[in-house]
Amino acid sequence: MSTESTAGTSNRSVIASDRDVAVITGASSGIGAATARSLANEGFHVILGARRVDRLRELAAETGGTALPLDVTDEDSVNSFVEQVPTCRILVNNAGGAKGSAPVAEADESDWRWMWETNVLGTLRLTKALLPKLVASENGHVITVTSVAALEVYDNGSGYTSAKHAEAALHRTLRGEHLGEPVRFTEVAPGLVETEFSEVRYHGDTERAKAVYRGLTPLVADDVADVITFAATRPAHVNLDQIVVKPRDQASATRSHRT
Ligand code: NAP
Repeated sequence: MSTESTAGTSNRSVIASDRDVAVITGASSGIGAATARSLANEGFHVILGARRVDRLRELAAETGGTALPLDVTDEDSVNSFVEQVPTCRILVNNAGGAKGSAPVAEADESDWRWMWETNVLGTLRLTKALLPKLVASENGHVITVTSVAALEVYDNGSGYTSAKHAEAALHRTLRGEHLGEPVRFTEVAPGLVETEFSEVRYHGDTERAKAVYRGLTPLVADDVADVITFAATRPAHVNLDQIVVKPRDQASATRSHRT
């Protein structure tokens, strides 16, 4: 089979590659984009999914990968995305994020719905749809980007912490359900990473977003991509179950050293 870079968004399954395929959701920004670059450097054909396809096209051209539109909250979009993925060795469930920071007593249901639809049901949809191809690859690997918010709760964060806990529970359950099959499951739980995450969380308020990282040295997207790529490039019998990665300045979700 010849190797082909397909930066387009046609509806046909035109991806033909002699390289192993890695699907990365939420590849238009932050951790997903950095992971796409890193896995492409390791020789994978990266299939990039997100809603901002213009960004994906540029990244596909840079990495020799494939850009496909994907809205993980929309079943039809997920189906048409998956139809175009011919084989799959790695799935990085990365699309996600937070919206708002309200106490439970003032919770905004539309923010909650966004977070549960994207982080939890989005991960469910993609994993469910691609598992047969991952198993068929005889060395499948599902890597899910959860968060320290999947391990701890904090004030004013319940919409996000509950969604990340649920996403992590779904991911960790798969480890037992597929024991004995040729597929690995790795959860990567980052602390503070400076990406577009806080801008999205605070509905475009850039000043408030910047304040999240003020006075400390946060992780950058490449730091998390390194960890994902390390897990993805271990021998097939090695399963890194859970990796928590935080800046040196951060001890927990609620405790950081700031100057
Ligand atoms: P980011 O820069 O905001 O990237 C989020 C990505 O998710 C974007 O590519 C976005 O693409 C995609 N996305 C959002 N909704 C989507 C949808 N409905 N369908 C498809 N893609 C969607 O933030 P990031 O920090 O890289 O976040 C990546 C993951 O890391 C998330 O799961 C986040 O919860 C997790 N995380 C982040 C941090 C942090 O501090 N930054 C810490 C722990 C965990 P489009 O908008 O183009 O669709």
